[in-house]
Amino acid sequence: MRTVIYPGSFDPLTNGHLDVIKRATKLFDRVIVAVAESNGKKPFFTLAERKRTLAKVVKDIPNVTTTSFSGLLVDFAAKKKACAIIRGLRVVSDFEFEFQMALMNRRLKERIETVFMMPRGKYIYLSSSLVKEVARLGGEVSAFVPDSVEQALRKKLSAKRR
Ligand code: ADP
Repeated sequence: MRTVIYPGSFDPLTNGHLDVIKRATKLFDRVIVAVAESNGKKPFFTLAERKRTLAKVVKDIPNVTTTSFSGLLVDFAAKKKACAIIRGLRVVSDFEFEFQMALMNRRLKERIETVFMMPRGKYIYLSSSLVKEVARLGGEVSAFVPDSVEQALRKKLSAKRR
C-alpha cells in the first residue's frame, strides 16, 4: 500500500492542483490531499472553507482522501505512513524553492521522498493567487477552477464586500 501526501494551501484549489491529484492516483494506492493552515500567508479562505471545497471536488475520485495539518510536513507524512510527498512544478521559478524544501524534508526524514509532478501545459500559468485576483476584479474564472470553487469564490467575495 503506497500512500502519498499532496500538501498545499489550496487557497483555493485550482484545475492545476486537480490535474496533479489525478496524476498522483495513477502512481500511488492512496493520495491524501492535506490542506496546510498557512496562517503566515494570510489565506483568503479559512482552513475549514478550503477543506470543505476540496473534499467536495475530489469526493468521486477513488483513493483520494482529504484532511488538514499543522506542524512539520514530514512528521505528518510519517504519521500517515506515507512514503512520499507530491509537489507540483509549473515553471522554472517554482524549482528553486521546491528543490530546497525537498532537500530539507529529506534531511529531516530520510525515508520520505519528494515526487514532482507537472500539470498539463494549459495549467502551467495557473496559480491560486492569480485566480483570486481575476475573480476579485470581476473576471471569469470558470476555466481555471472547478464549479464549486467558483461558487465559493463568488460567495466569499460578496461577503467580504458587504
Ligand atoms: P503552497 O502554499 O504549499 O505552495 P499551493 O496550494 O500554492 O500551496 O500549492 C500546492 C502545490 O501545488 C505546490 O507544489 C505548487 O507548486 C503546486 N501547484 C500550484 N498550482 C499548480 C498548477 N497550476 N499546476 C501544478 N501544480 C501546481
